[in-house]
Amino acid sequence: MRLETQLAQVGTKKEKKTGAISFPVYFATAYEHIGLGVSTGYDYSRTANPTRDVLEESIARLEGGDAGFACSSGMAAIQTVMGIFSKGDHLIVSLDLYGGTYRLFEEVLSRFGLTFSYVDLRDLDAVEQAVRPHTKAIFIETVTNPLMRVTDLAAICRIAGRHQLLSIVDNTFMTPYHQQPIQLGADIVIHSATKYLGGHNDVLAGLIVTKGEELSERIRFIHNSIGATLGPLDAWLLMRGMKTLALRMEKHQENASQLARFLHEHPGVTEVFYPELDEKSRSILSEQGKGCGGMLSFRVKNKQWIGPFLENLKIITFAESLGGVESLITYPATQTHADIPQDIREKVGVCERLLRFSAGIEHVDDLKQDLANAFAQAERTVNQGGRVR
Ligand SMILES: *Cc1c(COP(=O)(O)O)cnc(C)c1O
Repeated sequence: MRLETQLAQVGTKKEKKTGAISFPVYFATAYEHIGLGVSTGYDYSRTANPTRDVLEESIARLEGGDAGFACSSGMAAIQTVMGIFSKGDHLIVSLDLYGGTYRLFEEVLSRFGLTFSYVDLRDLDAVEQAVRPHTKAIFIETVTNPLMRVTDLAAICRIAGRHQLLSIVDNTFMTPYHQQPIQLGADIVIHSATKYLGGHNDVLAGLIVTKGEELSERIRFIHNSIGATLGPLDAWLLMRGMKTLALRMEKHQENASQLARFLHEHPGVTEVFYPELDEKSRSILSEQGKGCGGMLSFRVKNKQWIGPFLENLKIITFAESLGGVESLITYPATQTHADIPQDIREKVGVCERLLRFSAGIEHVDDLKQDLANAFAQAERTVNQGGRVR
């Protein structure tokens, strides 16, 4: 089955007893044992839940992995995966990555004796050089957040393989519709399903997909032991969202591509970050998947415009998330990336003129007009010596 078909069919033909097209939500936390050592396969909902099971099977299949695990958030998924490492282990990590992941690594897991080296994964020699005797994994975010840097996944997974490191990919931005890291050699895929997979800004969830029996069993043990599992209603909401992923991603991408060109030509913008505009990124992405996704970032000409620009948007919402049908705009320096120290933030290019845009599925002309109006208002406000933030 092609991906579009698999997506539309998530949860369908699974409920044999009644034939319900939409898989039921099983709220029960405990399941009867009809005899000593005899169970239906379900005992207690943290360990396994029928609704969550359908979601987990679906994402495993969509990513081409062997097992799926649904968690209460993207961060819970990352924490669960990190549970396979031990004190003294070292990981190589993408240089610009989600601020919350950085915070978990540096402010929580570092206290448990894990160490991390942040490397620009576009530089394969730098990756080789970062490998130490206790390195256990490479943690890859691609396309990166917020600078849309593209990693050659197959090349990084080959390096990981040579050094017997696990390759872990946060596939939140691309989704299995655009990129399937396990097919390119990755061992583990993570999603903040809160974003594109859910798609409607109304469910917080995380997913993990693993390759291979042994690794799947290790993650299964930690998923149940830590217990940050996804509730059944949220699992159902997520499946409902995933059914339209293919349609949504096509439209997100089409809008992002048009908006990237529009912003590129706008006099109020100095730089646009969207893989399609960069030849190398575009060529890697066309090799390893089928698209550039729906996220872009841009630098405005004048830092003082940021406040009035955001205040004057009428359709696009200034909010801290991405991947939903509604267009959202984020200011990474004070929102998603506020927990990264300023010097590091500036070094990786997350400056105070940078805005991140999650293209929704609205009519692109309305979005362009909204942006153009906000730029005009911002310029006017600043020229008039208006409120400067
Ligand atoms: C949002 C996000 C996360 C964290 O996911 P939550 O669902 O918010 O916990 C991790 N990685 C990336 C790339 C994200 O965008």
